[in-house]
Amino acid sequence: NERERSFLVMKGPYRHGDGTVQGVIGVARDITERKRQEQIKDDFLALASHELKTPLAALLGYIYLLERWSAKNGFGDRVDHALAAMSHEGKRLDRLINDLLDVSRIQTGRLQMDLRTIELRSYVEQVLVTMRLAIADHPIVLIDDADRELPCLADPQRLEQVISNLLTNAAKYSSEGAPIYVELQSRQHSIEIAVRDTGIGIPEADVPLIFDRFYQVQRPRRESRPGMGLGLFITREIVRQHGGTLGVDSREGAGSRFSIQLPLAAETIREVTLDSSSIAHPSAQSIEWTDRRRAGSG
Ligand code: ADP
Repeated sequence: NERERSFLVMKGPYRHGDGTVQGVIGVARDITERKRQEQIKDDFLALASHELKTPLAALLGYIYLLERWSAKNGFGDRVDHALAAMSHEGKRLDRLINDLLDVSRIQTGRLQMDLRTIELRSYVEQVLVTMRLAIADHPIVLIDDADRELPCLADPQRLEQVISNLLTNAAKYSSEGAPIYVELQSRQHSIEIAVRDTGIGIPEADVPLIFDRFYQVQRPRRESRPGMGLGLFITREIVRQHGGTLGVDSREGAGSRFSIQLPLAAETIREVTLDSSSIAHPSAQSIEWTDRRRAGSG
């Protein structure tokens, strides 16, 4: 709507000298233009990341084809080496673009979860098989303290993304060869999955900010790592959409422990609520969770 305007309003009580309230005083600032600029930026992010994906998918496809040809016909070590490097960097680019796409989906409320019942213990074990191949230079130790099966409503691909993000960070911010611990624990009504490292840790002042979009801890050069500061932002949102929470415990120089609390499947009832915005955009349904635990059960 062309004539619709947005205002940022601040108000406070206006008092007499003796403290009694006489009225309200405030400032209203027109932020329509700022909102418009933000919208343009968000639209650009969505469009650019979407358009970048198509040519990259074609490139990765041809790289894969060349790798197969080379395996069959023996193009030689130098070609194999170049192809491996192209494939590695191409996949990295793909992950970066996927992160940008996820951010734009989160902003428009279109990050969708495909939830189903999974058994978390065997699921985590499976995910770790893949992750151990991807993070070869750190032993990944599973500490399973759960005393029963752990049924849980989750999107398997998205939950894998969460675990992968946390493990990749643990590896990134600890010295080569240092072990990474994955801890599984069942509580009365929930499940905890934690990823713990013995790495460089996070300065206390940064801890509340690391889940923000694009936030990166400023570190001395030898400790800084490449990244866009999006991993934890996306990770927290995925966990939230599972009805869970993501927290961190960290001490500089001693390591970090990121923990996910997920509700047990039997405790949750899925409610899909259609609010007015999702009627305008039927794809953007917001999923709400209700914890239906009863006192004394479980
Ligand atoms: P990125 O790793 O791309 O910078 P993230 O959102 O994954 O972005 O993390 C945000 C910041 O939190 C990082 O810049 C890093 O400094 C800090 N961080 C995340 N995980 C760890 C960890 N396991 N140990 C130490 N610092 C971490």
